[in-house]
Amino acid sequence: MKTRDVFWDFEPALEVLWYVLAALSTLVFLYGVARPVVKYGRGQRYGLPPRRELPGRVRDALRILLSHVTVKRRDAYAGWAHAGIFYGFVVLFIGTVILAINTDLTEPFFGWRFFEGDFYLGYSIVLDVLGLALLAGVVLMMVRRGVLRPRKLDYDRPDREAETPERRVYRIGDWVFVGILLVLVVTGYVLEGVRIAMDQPGYDEWSPAGWVAAQAFGGVGDGALHAMRHTLWWFHGLLAIGFVAAIPYTKAAHMLTSFVSLVLRDPQAGKRLRAIPPERAAEPAGYGSLGDFGAVHLLHLDACTKCGKCHEACPALATGKPLSPRDVVLELREQANAAMEEIGIGGVLGVLMRRDAPSGGRFAQPVIGGDGVRADTVWSCMQCNACVEACPVGIEQAPIINQLRRRLVEEGELPANLQATLQTIHKSGNSFGERARKRGRWTEELDFEVKDARKESVDVLWFVGDYASFDPRSQKVTRSLARLFRAADVDFGILYDGERNSGNDVRRAGEEGLFEALAEQNVAVLEECDFNRIVTSDPHSLNTLRNEYPELGAGYEVLHHTALLLELIEAGRLPLDGGLSYTVTYHDPCYLGRHNGGYDAPRQILRALGCTLVEMPRNRDNSFCCGAGGGRIWIPDEPGTERPSENRIHEAVSLGELDYFVVSCPKDVTMYEDAIKTSGNAERIELRELTELMEEAV
Ligand code: SF4
Ligand code: SF4
Repeated sequence: MKTRDVFWDFEPALEVLWYVLAALSTLVFLYGVARPVVKYGRGQRYGLPPRRELPGRVRDALRILLSHVTVKRRDAYAGWAHAGIFYGFVVLFIGTVILAINTDLTEPFFGWRFFEGDFYLGYSIVLDVLGLALLAGVVLMMVRRGVLRPRKLDYDRPDREAETPERRVYRIGDWVFVGILLVLVVTGYVLEGVRIAMDQPGYDEWSPAGWVAAQAFGGVGDGALHAMRHTLWWFHGLLAIGFVAAIPYTKAAHMLTSFVSLVLRDPQAGKRLRAIPPERAAEPAGYGSLGDFGAVHLLHLDACTKCGKCHEACPALATGKPLSPRDVVLELREQANAAMEEIGIGGVLGVLMRRDAPSGGRFAQPVIGGDGVRADTVWSCMQCNACVEACPVGIEQAPIINQLRRRLVEEGELPANLQATLQTIHKSGNSFGERARKRGRWTEELDFEVKDARKESVDVLWFVGDYASFDPRSQKVTRSLARLFRAADVDFGILYDGERNSGNDVRRAGEEGLFEALAEQNVAVLEECDFNRIVTSDPHSLNTLRNEYPELGAGYEVLHHTALLLELIEAGRLPLDGGLSYTVTYHDPCYLGRHNGGYDAPRQILRALGCTLVEMPRNRDNSFCCGAGGGRIWIPDEPGTERPSENRIHEAVSLGELDYFVVSCPKDVTMYEDAIKTSGNAERIELRELTELMEEAV
């Protein structure tokens, strides 16, 4: 019969020993699973998706998992290597379960043995080949770690002086993880080879890798093969059940948490920050201790695979700031694990029996300060969402950092300039400290009247935003845009002194109360107006108006000016002849691109203008933040450090001869006009807002 016997030639006592050890391994594994479940039970309930969304979320997470799309993104090598490991492991795991069902269930209890004949042959070849995929993946990962050594795997913490002991443990843990997988696969094949050499079954072609291994044992006698098989069987078996027991405690834990993280992640993470839930309104805002964390965020901490994609994407890290989103996640995870260790086995079992959650102890201690997350780490973030977008397992680094900021703001631990600006916004309704009646002054240099949308109905309500209203350089762009709207016969109006700062960056700076006040004032004014849709040239305002104001009852259609301009071009209302033959590069603003998917309209306009677009290496969803987001525009950079905007200008200049560096955000106008000068490139490149090129062409 074509088959193989798991316990071939084993004494019954050894079989019993095997089952005892396997049961022990399962118990250790189950405790390892129970421990974080207890921890998540300690988390706050907010952030959990409604049950009705779960089927769709599971389907989406499965699609991501099976396609490996997020692992392959921007790192095809790691993606394919991981796919080999993943599919190899999954198939070998399923194969082991099938074998166990036959050996421990259907055969002893029902006398039905299906692990034979054609089924067995098919089983053999599938597992043999997928084992090779696992082997190839492991070897590729080892080459990557040992030879290619990408920076994202370096584990250097930008917020610590030297390598910390726990980082050495991470490094060793990574090698042990891939090393064990390698040894498991290799010993599996050698064991198979020894069995084939002993048994000479005559259908070796169904186990090609095992057959190759068997060739090495051609001249070895039966007694030696016998001893070898026993030794290898126990070595391989003990390693396998040891690996299973260790899964929840090691890097392998991501096998359990990553999928759940993908299911529970907020698809709007970063675009729409969560309001303070009513039941927490009386508590201090944000995350001050682990006990404040949402259950989903506690799970996110465990889901981190340490892949370093967010570490690599972070503009704060790239410009020498003491922030790596990966390290924030790992730091918080270490704190959460220490809190669980404090509770111990007795505490975990007690919670499981009594069904209450542990509290006090480390769960109540501050997560910021001391040996924990540094306050300047938290304030280095630009809330650009590059980390969230890059993370293959759906971790919400930027919203977690925002929650840490909320607590720092609550405790008054914020940079002085930021504090002063927030006070200015509180008093005047704008970040320039200007009187409200000066908000519409930019219109005075136009040779036509701009409608007051509060007094007469308009088709398009233009939410201008602080920078486009008050900054002298951006005001020129704002007037260009007004002239284009007029040329295209757009029925538009503005709110004049009724408009307030939209609050997007106030919220991302952690000042939730001020955000709510600003948003409510804007919503109250908008509700009094009669219009069809909102347009804004400010991606920051666009983001909060589109994604956050609906929760305050203001669910309007909100367009970026580039989308409206493209619409007007396509409708023939802004005739162009494609006569601008400039060579340009274009910077994707984080809040237009990554947060709102506005990648194509600016590029289509540039094409319609006749410009040749040369893309920077970091473009579209991989765009590099200008450094203004998350309130960073109000926090001075450390003297002597490179600013993100300067880093970006160097990237643009490295493309060669360009006529213009094109932007489509008023804050980008401010940041890059300055960076072009401070980076010493005033002679080499000039900034134009897309609207200005449009007006030139029209
Ligand atoms: S939001 Fe941007 S700046 Fe902040 S941690 Fe993420 S990548 Fe870094
Ligand atoms: S947080 Fe996500 S992107 Fe960053 S290292 Fe962990 S798994 Fe990778």
